[in-house]
Amino acid sequence: MTIYFRLMIIEKIISAIFPSRCPFCRKVIREEEFCCEDCKKKFPNRVIKSLAKWNFTCISSFPYCENFRKAVLTLKKQKTLGIPLGKILAESITEGYADFHFDIITAVPLYKSKFKKRGYNQAEILAREVSKKISVPYIEVLDKIKNTKDQHLLKGRARMFNVLNAYRAKDKDIIANKNILIIDDIITTGCTLGECARVIRKAGANKVYCATVCRA
Ligand SMILES: [Zn+2]
Repeated sequence: MTIYFRLMIIEKIISAIFPSRCPFCRKVIREEEFCCEDCKKKFPNRVIKSLAKWNFTCISSFPYCENFRKAVLTLKKQKTLGIPLGKILAESITEGYADFHFDIITAVPLYKSKFKKRGYNQAEILAREVSKKISVPYIEVLDKIKNTKDQHLLKGRARMFNVLNAYRAKDKDIIANKNILIIDDIITTGCTLGECARVIRKAGANKVYCATVCRA
């Protein structure tokens, strides 16, 4: 048996043990699909646009409910889920930002102790997949310099103060005059993305836009 055939058999065995699954309902799907037909029917007809009260533009693929919510929560425990979700987010970006040009795709960073604990940044997994799909380079432009409390434990203005000055631009020369798209898994009150956008703008970016999988 040639090595090629051996590899093919190993691949078949692996895909039988770990088949591709729908990121929303976990149903087994064909390898080339990124979700099942039933879940696809539940997708909103259009991308969700940001609220007028935010001082930045953000588009989201899904409302934060049912299986969409479950998928975003599971992404924090299962890194590979970022790939199908990133592909779906890339489609929303192509639709929602059809007339825009981006120079850089970046992600909301995690504080280093949190990154160590989880082993990865879920926003980065999404952003890297989007970067591949829409052919815009992924660059880390922000550092998280403050170990903030979890935003969902806080209310109203406390959320704003929690993230204030929590991020720092890594290199202003890379950011200067660029159009930057920031990716995160979810947007709730908009405090985190708003603060990231503010820091990137202050570092000299031309335009800053945001995109998330879910909007609460
Ligand atoms: Zn499904």
